[in-house]
Amino acid sequence: MPRVAFTVDVEQDAPPFLQTWQGIEKGLPAMLELLAKHDVPATFFVTGLAAEKFPGIVAEISQRHEVACHGYEHERFDILAVEEQRKRIEKATEILQKVTGESPLGFRAPNFKATRQTLAILKQIGYIYDASKASYKCSPGNYPGLVEIPNTLPSSFLRLPTWLSFPVLSFCLRFLPLIVLDYHPWELIKISNVRLDLRFATGFQALSRLDKVIGYLTTHGIEFVTMEKVASHKLARSTS
Ligand SMILES: [Zn+2]
Repeated sequence: MPRVAFTVDVEQDAPPFLQTWQGIEKGLPAMLELLAKHDVPATFFVTGLAAEKFPGIVAEISQRHEVACHGYEHERFDILAVEEQRKRIEKATEILQKVTGESPLGFRAPNFKATRQTLAILKQIGYIYDASKASYKCSPGNYPGLVEIPNTLPSSFLRLPTWLSFPVLSFCLRFLPLIVLDYHPWELIKISNVRLDLRFATGFQALSRLDKVIGYLTTHGIEFVTMEKVASHKLARSTS
């Protein structure tokens, strides 16, 4: 049976276009309620800045879900000098440790843009997996000892009407052993004045469609897994 990893990137609204945090303030509670209703564990890639601003809600997420790292302030790692990359990853890691009481094991670069040096830093400071690859974007190759878990479908996919998304999901479930889905709390609030792919069907419609997709997957007997679980399983297999 295929497995699904539902992942959520916790950051400011539609970065770098907006500077507001309504997604965390209003969208995130609705998302946590939805996941609790379906009893689905998820992986939240949180920026250090979001954890600094909202430590209470990030600590609450860590009680039921995995908290992983999404950079410090949603910076583009592919255009930063190596030492600056290291500083920001270390800073974000430290904040997440402080807020959740645990070291994050996974990392997703903002905009899915990591470099080989980013991956080297992750490995050096104890991360076990990277999720900065997407099947629909170019990325650096794999890094020895670091499990790569690429994203399968872009977050806007989950905002499509279900007559479009269900057949694609059904196809993926038939052919892929693991589907990684990505989402953002800001998609659950009405977004305007940004690119069409970022704003279409955001707000109430997004919440209703997400509810239907998760319901569709749970009624098809799909096992929801955290990324940490996928990575640990792959590591155990590679060392046995
Ligand atoms: Zn992001």
